[in-house]
Amino acid sequence: MRIFIGRYGHEGNGFSSEVLSFKDYQQRSNWIHGQALIDTHQDSSSYLGGIIDEGCRHHAELFPSLSCGCAAPTLSKECVDLTIEVIVQDLKQACATGLDGVCFSLHGAGCAEGTDDLEDHVLSELRRIVGEEMPICVPLDLHGNITAQMASKAALFGIKQNPHLDCRETGALAMSACIESILSGRRLLTACIQLPLIIPPTAGYTMDPPFPEIDAYFKQYKQSHRLVDATLFHGFPFCNQAKMGASVVVVSWEKPTVHAKELATYIWEKRYSFVVEPLSASEAMDKAESCSKTGYVIINESSDNPGGGAPGDGTHLLGELIQRNLPGSLFCYIYDKQAVQEILCHHVGDTVDVTIGGKTESLHGAPIYLQKARIISMSDGEYVTASTMEPGKKTSIGQCARIRVGNTEIIVGSRLQQVYDDRPMIATGADPSKYRYICIKSTNHFKAYFKERAADTVPCDSPGIHSCDLSSMPFTKIRHPMFPIDANAQFNPFE
Ligand SMILES: [Zn+2]
Repeated sequence: MRIFIGRYGHEGNGFSSEVLSFKDYQQRSNWIHGQALIDTHQDSSSYLGGIIDEGCRHHAELFPSLSCGCAAPTLSKECVDLTIEVIVQDLKQACATGLDGVCFSLHGAGCAEGTDDLEDHVLSELRRIVGEEMPICVPLDLHGNITAQMASKAALFGIKQNPHLDCRETGALAMSACIESILSGRRLLTACIQLPLIIPPTAGYTMDPPFPEIDAYFKQYKQSHRLVDATLFHGFPFCNQAKMGASVVVVSWEKPTVHAKELATYIWEKRYSFVVEPLSASEAMDKAESCSKTGYVIINESSDNPGGGAPGDGTHLLGELIQRNLPGSLFCYIYDKQAVQEILCHHVGDTVDVTIGGKTESLHGAPIYLQKARIISMSDGEYVTASTMEPGKKTSIGQCARIRVGNTEIIVGSRLQQVYDDRPMIATGADPSKYRYICIKSTNHFKAYFKERAADTVPCDSPGIHSCDLSSMPFTKIRHPMFPIDANAQFNPFE
């Protein structure tokens, strides 16, 4: 049994003014090709970790192609073409020597020039090579905007947790279904029902209601109807495409559509529980200041989350923090290569005049000019993650410095990264327990580490291209009506 494996991930922010080149995508996407894919991912918590280990458990011969993925602005057409070319060449080679199945992970919320459905485009290419009959199983992120076209080409499996702690489990499920389909000769069927519904990322923390109840309901439904999988995809609002929105996807050996319709109706009845009230930087800091528990409060600026394709150099929350001048304030971190270069020309202990942030998207606030900022430390910014999100992963915020103005310490980094835990702070010599207010740029993934450790977590939704204040987003291509933008949206999939 020979199975082609890989991953092509992109969560695209269509509101960004940038377009990502092939070279930039390769740099940012942890691009790994061939045998190195297996060496890197085997036993890991990634989708491919689950795919590889499940394949090995069944003694399948694996044909590793490409692994890459990141959140970023729209991909250039050339970037997409060159990436797909690598996958297609590998797939042709695998087919020439005999192939039984494909287990290939996608994200689901890609944004690319030249196509409104990147994932369907990729699946069309795979189908073109392998034909209509070969099983193709695809594990996806729950932020995927899923379409019926995608479901007609492959069996689609979604993660259920946000923070995303079940990627490995979902990769293994997709691989196990692929193997079962190969061995039995039965065809997996997938149904996708799109809802006229946006579940904004800030409403999508799956440890809080209504998600535990939804998860239990889906699991019970799946078991009693003997489905292979059933997923609520939250969708990703910032793609600004016609396919954007939540969906229910069911994989089974027969008649998946009626089950997807029933589960989608169940979700629609819960639509009001996905509506969030966004807090401005000022409102978020007011709330943080009102916390009565001891320890540190995390204020997460979700609207500038690099994990959703935002620039990471927004200054709304940073400006508010500096202006309040509260003892024990730490901002970790603002992305600004140029400012880091300027600071690194000095020495620890020096003071420096420097302009930080606000250099990418005007919506994210103006640059902030700091006068006589004291340099506390400089670092290569390297660390090993401690969060259960990606435990033990070596990563970096790049060359960086920790500087101080008044009561506020600011870490300035040169490599764009979402903050999952306190390791980037520790990499600059900062001990998080010594602070009261810690500002980061993340939406939900940080909670896997900080929820149990912080006195409180306060979301901040300042203006930005990843803002969950949906009324502020300049949607031009999405379907209408769409709840909650269109409050009177109706949905009945059985009509
Ligand atoms: Zn996601």
